[in-house]
Order: sequence, then structure tokens, then C-alpha cells
Amino acid sequence: LPELPEVETIKNELSSQVVERGITDVDLFWEKQVRRPSAEEFRSRIVGQRIKGLGRRGKYLLFHLESGEILVIHLKMTGSLLVKPTSERPEKYVRSVINLDGGISIHFRDIRKFSGMWLVKDVDGVIKKMGLEPFDPAFTPRHLAGIIGSRSAPVKALLCDQTMIAGIGNMYADEALYEAGIHPMRPGSSLSKAEIKRLHGAIRKVLENGIGNKGASVNTYFLPDGIKGTAHSEFRVAHRRGEKCPLCGCEIERIVVRQRGTYFCPKCQKD
Ligand SMILES: [Zn+2]
Repeated sequence: LPELPEVETIKNELSSQVVERGITDVDLFWEKQVRRPSAEEFRSRIVGQRIKGLGRRGKYLLFHLESGEILVIHLKMTGSLLVKPTSERPEKYVRSVINLDGGISIHFRDIRKFSGMWLVKDVDGVIKKMGLEPFDPAFTPRHLAGIIGSRSAPVKALLCDQTMIAGIGNMYADEALYEAGIHPMRPGSSLSKAEIKRLHGAIRKVLENGIGNKGASVNTYFLPDGIKGTAHSEFRVAHRRGEKCPLCGCEIERIVVRQRGTYFCPKCQKD
């Protein structure tokens, strides 16, 4: 599932190619991908508009249009946005195509069909209560202590909760907890002030590395030009069950925390 670094990378890479282009046509091969408004209204309202800028909130990608409306996209499990020449025929898993002037198109590919698009005047109706962005200056160790310090849920689950912090998911939560030396099952309330401070620094560090490596392609994440990110090659625990911990040599283990596969080092991250 694409997380903050993957969506941020898509935003950055797409911006240079699509901003200031007009939308000339939209093909919808799976109309339910449009969550709001109806597919018909979506098409009639979006065609003819110019893309003025791209943004991101948590794992949502935002296309700001000249009318002030916003095209909101969530890639979910297997979505990707690929820039292709308009002459190229969409392949099997492309669910919609946004044609732009200048002869390029955005192919919205999604194998498992969990992704969605919304065309709205205000993102609040789509993006419900969401926590601070981890790079927001207001996201401080003190803020982190305030949101997780009184919770009994496992810290792994708290990090993945979008109402607490925006954009972190399974992979970067595991990496941040490893970096901070904290067991994923520890209740939020059991963390000391020093541990919360370490975790805060670790969150920013692993996300920054993820963005620097243009995201992690553990399964179906691609950059808009079709190539893969390399962040997963620097993961130290995520998706590395059975491999050796780079710090202590212990075998990385996998447990399930609130239905999520969770990777950690049993020696460096003691319960
Ligand atoms: Zn270790």
C-alpha cells in the first residue's frame, strides 16, 4: 500500500509533467472508481479544466483545478498513476485514462480495484478527521506524546491510525519502531518521554529516507514513468522476515498486530 513517501513521490514526479495542462478527455473503464459525483457528471465537470497544482494530504493525492475544484485520488492497495503518450493503448488493469493536452495521458492502473477518485469543491467531505502531517512544524515530540501517551493500544496500531498521524502505514511504522528500538506491541501509554522523542525523530527519518529513495516498490508501486522506487532496498525490518538484523544479527520476526503483518527484531525491540 502506498504510504506518505510513495504518494509524495508521485506528486513530485507528476507535477512537472501535468501542471498547467488542460484535461481534454476522460475514459472511465470502471465507472465505480469515481466515488463522487456520478461518472457522467464527473466527466462533464472535469473535461476542459486546467490542472493548476498538485498536493498531498496523508495518502491522498490532490489535483487542484482551475475552477477551484479538487480531484482527489486514493491509490489504496494496488493503484498507480502512469504518464503515457495519448497514442498508447491502455493495458488490461488501467481503469481510467485522463487525457491532457500536449499528447500525454495519465493511466490510472489498479489490479485489485480498491482505489477511488472524487471531484469535490472541498476535501473535508472525503478526507475525514486526520492527524497532523509528520513534517508539519506542529508535529513535535510533545504533540506525539499527547496523542499516543494516554492510549493503551499497541504503538504500531497507533502509528498507522490516520486520525493520529497522517500518511504512515505498515512499512514505515515498522521501520520507525525499529529505528527507535521500540517493540510494536508496547501500549502507547508505556512509552517513556525519551522513547517518544526517539520515535518522533525516527518517524521523520524513515519517511525522509523513503522520499529520498522515491518510495518503496514492495509490490505494485510504480513511479509515473513506470520505474520502481528503491526505498524497500534500505528497509531493515519491513518485509524482511528471517533475514538478519543489521544491528545484532538476530532473525527478524513477523507477528500480526491488529490484522497487520508486523516485522521487528526481538532483541533490539524488547517487549
Ligand atoms: Zn537486532
